Amino acid sequence: MSSEWNTRTKLVHDGIRRSQYGEVSEAIFLTQGFVYDSAEAAEARFVKAGEDEFVYARYGNPTVRMFEDRMAALEGAEDGFAAASGMAAVSAALMSMLKAGDRVVAARALFGSCLYIAEEILPRFGVEVAFVDGTDLDQWRAAVRPGTRAVFFETLSNPALDMVDIAGVAAIAHEAGALVVADNVFATPIYSRALELGADLVVYSTTKHVDGQGRCLGGVVLGGREHIRTVLEPYLKHTGGALSPFNAWVMLKGLETLDLRVRASSAAALDIARALEGHPKLARVIYPHLESHPQHALALRQMEGGGTVLSLDVKGGKAGAFRFLNGLEICTISNNLGDAKSIVTHPATTTHQRLGDARRAALGITPGMVRLSVGLEDARDLLADLTRALERV
Ligand SMILES: *Cc1c(COP(=O)(O)O)cnc(C)c1O
Repeated sequence: MSSEWNTRTKLVHDGIRRSQYGEVSEAIFLTQGFVYDSAEAAEARFVKAGEDEFVYARYGNPTVRMFEDRMAALEGAEDGFAAASGMAAVSAALMSMLKAGDRVVAARALFGSCLYIAEEILPRFGVEVAFVDGTDLDQWRAAVRPGTRAVFFETLSNPALDMVDIAGVAAIAHEAGALVVADNVFATPIYSRALELGADLVVYSTTKHVDGQGRCLGGVVLGGREHIRTVLEPYLKHTGGALSPFNAWVMLKGLETLDLRVRASSAAALDIARALEGHPKLARVIYPHLESHPQHALALRQMEGGGTVLSLDVKGGKAGAFRFLNGLEICTISNNLGDAKSIVTHPATTTHQRLGDARRAALGITPGMVRLSVGLEDARDLLADLTRALERV
């Protein structure tokens, strides 16, 4: 394990714990309990478990620990704790540090379930949540005041692909004594500089790019050791959102190829975005690394690649978007992202249906918007598929 290794080496080797058999591939320790050599050993381990000592899989498991260590190494975080899903990770990151009377400031453009936590659950426990336009530093400045406990945002929002200036928001938050919690799924862990730019906790749904092949749910919270071990871990291990060792193993194998996959999909996404921009059936193509993106300079500064997702505003509203979706052969209609398979989603009628017209409009989610998660197919085939389907609009 070495902090000097480059990303691809870390993704293949970091965190590995070999058993007495010296297996090459990471082992799946599909066990919820652990045996003690004596009653005294059991007592000692309950007093304090050492680095490679486990007591119960809700608290920790060797395969899950390998996954946590590899994710922390990738992100450049001191430590990490895995969770059963991205939402288990997001909710634990927030709930573990909050109490009644606290204030949270959040960007308005949030993943549906994140919005539900911020809007419905936290206020029920006496936490005040203020929402801002995440792209507007003046709004963050006005809303974050001394006594604000945390700020929460998606670094790159779904599906409008608005960017939050992490360093700008972190400066405002830290001046007020607030912790910065960044949901970094769309930016991907490969293009993330969130910790370096000032985030205190980075949260991933590893269901997305880390698995990357549509199999398992998982999540992780990464950050400073003190916070992870004394605030987050007690909350997660007692509330039960533990990652299955089997899923952790799938994610570990996913991590081995993460860099290759994200870079390939991201390069294809840029090619497709460039090729489709200006298409007569499209009102707009949104992609962070297109010159036309309103925050292009920030996107270049904050993300080495533009990510694996682009959004297309198909002319003709919902009817136009549906004709486009139904005309696709390679791209499948679903709602995951970061998958080997290219996936198209119509946010207005699926992931963001609950919001209603007015709130969707405020977030830039038009009736014709289609989110495209670019997979690992040949970009030429994808472009041909997309172009053919656009002709039917
Ligand atoms: C998918 C996603 C989540 C939730 O992750 P699950 O693994 O589905 O629980 C949270 N935030 C963002 C940005 C996501 O894309």
